[in-house]
Amino acid sequence: MTQELPVDLQQLDAQDALKHKRAEFVVPDDIVYLDGNSLGCLPKSVPARLARAAQQEWGEHLIRSWTRNAGTQDWMTLPDRVAAKIARLIGANANEVAVGDSTSLNTFKALAAAMHLAGERRVLLTDTENFPTDLYMAQGLNKLLGHTWEIRTCQNTDIAAHLTPEVGAVLFTEVDYRTGRKLDMKALTAMARELGILTVWDLAHSAGAFPVDLNGCGADFAVGCGYKYLNGGPGAPAFLFVAGRHLNSAKPGDAAPVFLSGWMGHADPFQMARTYSPAPGARRYVVGTPQVLSLSALDEALNVFADVDMSVLRQKSLSLTDTFISLMEPLVQKHPLTLVTPLNHAERGSQVSYRHPDAQHVMKKLIERGIIGDFRTPDILRFGFTPLYHSFADVGRAAQGIRAVLDGQP
Ligand SMILES: *Cc1c(COP(=O)(O)O)cnc(C)c1O
Repeated sequence: MTQELPVDLQQLDAQDALKHKRAEFVVPDDIVYLDGNSLGCLPKSVPARLARAAQQEWGEHLIRSWTRNAGTQDWMTLPDRVAAKIARLIGANANEVAVGDSTSLNTFKALAAAMHLAGERRVLLTDTENFPTDLYMAQGLNKLLGHTWEIRTCQNTDIAAHLTPEVGAVLFTEVDYRTGRKLDMKALTAMARELGILTVWDLAHSAGAFPVDLNGCGADFAVGCGYKYLNGGPGAPAFLFVAGRHLNSAKPGDAAPVFLSGWMGHADPFQMARTYSPAPGARRYVVGTPQVLSLSALDEALNVFADVDMSVLRQKSLSLTDTFISLMEPLVQKHPLTLVTPLNHAERGSQVSYRHPDAQHVMKKLIERGIIGDFRTPDILRFGFTPLYHSFADVGRAAQGIRAVLDGQP
């Protein structure tokens, strides 16, 4: 039984400026996939690229691929070419972005640099509810530093009040992975800079989800994932942003604040020099041998963004989440569901979350029915929306499936 919908989904689909992009992805039609914020869908051009990387580049050219077609297709500069594509999406210059390793490792690199630059102001402020890996990396780094730092936490709704002069650096995630609440990165960064506090932003749920303007905000460092909204595939390499002003240490003779100083971030790796001397730009934050196969997939996947106006993408994202929230409204009246994602557009990422006392069981039932979202402890139902491949009809199907599960229909 189909209940009359409060919005005309067909009309919204007809007006969708990004509807042609869905054809560039493999989107299984037997499910509604609301988990592009955990693992983005496969762009159709990626398998051929992976085959080429394996068969020709690896199989035939072998080690010559490191320098073959120097600068245009060679493996050596692949991280830099991927960095340039990501830079456009996050408001950075290409030489301020390094690609490789995981988000966790890049968080370590960024934090180590920020904590070094912070000098004697040894308080690191972070979010009580931050994503676990962010907290764990900060704890591990503090252990390495002999517990000489205080790791202070606050709710992400109350950051401004905690930006005080003894804080040296902050580590925050722009969009809360549970609630979908988006922070005012521009205002918070400006406040931090005013007090001489260095900012490290985790863009795991931002990059590729809406326009990000790191340099416009004056951010110092940022990290983010390649496999979420950037669709680079499971375990895709992550990125690290370092503002140009921090690439070189102020002290002459003291190399840039790079602590995982690996040979692939050296100015001339094959010089085999005894001491580390950093490569130009953020390339110095590339540590070891680039993960060529997964970088190839990410490089190819990023091409789907080439003709996308990120402000149009943001409009669609908000329209998708608005539509979902309005279709869910009758269910919120009837069931113990509480919307935890802000209604205010400026405070919303590209996901919608509800609390439900039996969230884990509800999500299990939803997944059995082909409505793929996430359960997040302790009681969150999380639904991610990816404007490049979602239609408004998907939103309608999702709401119908959720209603069926909550109403206990077979
Ligand atoms: C997904 C996510 C990560 C993932 O880190 P990995 O090292 O890629 O596992 C980090 N931070 C946040 C906020 C995330 O949502």
